[in-house]
Amino acid sequence: MTNSSVVADWIRPEIRELNAYHVPPAHGMIKLDAMENPYRWDATLVEQWLNVLREAELNRYPDPAASSVKGGLRRVMQIPDELDILLGNGSDEIIQLLVMAVSGQNRVLLAPEPSFVMYRMIATFINMRYVGIPLHATDFSIELDAWLQAIATHQPALTFIAYPNNPTGNAFSQHDIEKIIQATKGLVIIDEAYEPFAEHSLLSLVNRYPNVLLMRTLSKLGLAGLRLGMLIGAPAWLNEIDKVRLPYNINVLTQLSTEFALQHYKTLKAQTEQIKRDRAQLLADLRTLKNLHVWDSQANFILFRVPHAKAVFEHLKQQGVLIKCLDGGHPLLANCLRVTVGTATENQAFLAGLRMALTA
Ligand code: PMP
Repeated sequence: MTNSSVVADWIRPEIRELNAYHVPPAHGMIKLDAMENPYRWDATLVEQWLNVLREAELNRYPDPAASSVKGGLRRVMQIPDELDILLGNGSDEIIQLLVMAVSGQNRVLLAPEPSFVMYRMIATFINMRYVGIPLHATDFSIELDAWLQAIATHQPALTFIAYPNNPTGNAFSQHDIEKIIQATKGLVIIDEAYEPFAEHSLLSLVNRYPNVLLMRTLSKLGLAGLRLGMLIGAPAWLNEIDKVRLPYNINVLTQLSTEFALQHYKTLKAQTEQIKRDRAQLLADLRTLKNLHVWDSQANFILFRVPHAKAVFEHLKQQGVLIKCLDGGHPLLANCLRVTVGTATENQAFLAGLRMALTA
């Protein structure tokens, strides 16, 4: 038997203090907790995809540069020729590559709070100092003065800004983001994971500012299972970050499946449009309920506050609807819940459960 004091001798204290990323079991439930696209492919598409997979050479390593995948992404996302693309096993891995390439003694990672938890977690894994700047308590906008002060104090090497932000769903003011970019000498990463559902993209800032790179992912577009994230930016940056990437990080099945999926981009786009329409309906329906505060959203989820979040969450779970309870995490999210926009039927089931939970 391994002696736990030996483990404690060698695993760094800040790692021992963490909890491993927990994904609650969801078997047989209506799963509205993880910002996934709720639509599966129809039988014809699945058949065509399986034919593509028959060509897979699993005895060979994948193309280390994943060139065909990058070509497909460049086409559908209209990435300008002068910018390069670097791929990761989800954008989670891209965050890890960035932190690995940039971290060092006294180097600081800056991010808004509340925001995507992996910025802080990966900083901890890699021993980079993390500083979170609280968002405005009521509308979750950027408090520009606090940011400019934090930049002057900490001289951050790396700043992450999710646009739109998770878990709040809002897109920060472009004016504020540009002021932050101009104020810092460090690298600024704009994380556009929710771009498919947003009104606007900040891709043009990558060409305008030498210290800006942009992240996207295929996860929210309907391909979360493939694990494909991307970093877009000037070759001078990406060539360096590529040095810390493991050689075959995008496996053969992901490469073939992504190429195939991108040929059917219209189908994914149509699903996204449907999710946006259903988001508008869900927002309107939520706003008819009493004792609820509902925030607008430019993503595929909605944040709302109830009088007793944990009780409502448990009640929904008992009725087979899994959403995300944010209560007990960041103080600005007290009594907040986050629901992913599902199919119209799933959304109705959620609303019915919520109505019951609120009157229970
Ligand atoms: N960025 C943001 C803001 C997210 O919310 C998420 C996932 N929830 C990610 C990045 C990671 O996405 P993935 O690793 O699936 O590409």
